[in-house]
Amino acid sequence: MTEAQLEDCVVCGNHAVETSLVDGEIVKECEVCGNLSGSPEIVELMELQREAEGLGVSIYSFPLAQFIDGLPGLKLQGDSGGERSAGRLPFIAFELIDHRTYQLENIGQSLRLLRGELECEWKIEFTFEYELGFELRPRARKDQPPEQQVEAARRDMIKIWRRLQSFKGLAWWKQ
Ligand SMILES: [Zn+2]
Repeated sequence: MTEAQLEDCVVCGNHAVETSLVDGEIVKECEVCGNLSGSPEIVELMELQREAEGLGVSIYSFPLAQFIDGLPGLKLQGDSGGERSAGRLPFIAFELIDHRTYQLENIGQSLRLLRGELECEWKIEFTFEYELGFELRPRARKDQPPEQQVEAARRDMIKIWRRLQSFKGLAWWKQ
């Protein structure tokens, strides 16, 4: 849902500022310089998704993958936004660089708290491919078409990313 509005861009002064509705929030985007304005949360997500597009990585997993990569002691190994047509579910793979488990506890506790809000059941899987690794991924279900599961998991990943940002500042989060 978009409509053109006669409004000037605060950055470049151009008159073509497009208003659209993203997740129920109004976002304004300049057609010339690309400046975004609106709810800081949505703007941050859109900027990350643009960055993902520029890098040729998945716009669905990139925000959460970047967040995880930025946690002390964790290093991103890879991420996927899943493939709808192939029914391949998204995942985020990481390793523990300091061999301590506190970030696993943080993520595990977050998933526990988010259980009622998420559409998929998420788990942290232990992998071993030359070295110890972990994968955050949704549990596949037999009672739902794979493409629907991919879409649900993509929505969940954005939700997890948003909630982890606030969880990170709470008392139970291990620093
Ligand atoms: Zn502009």
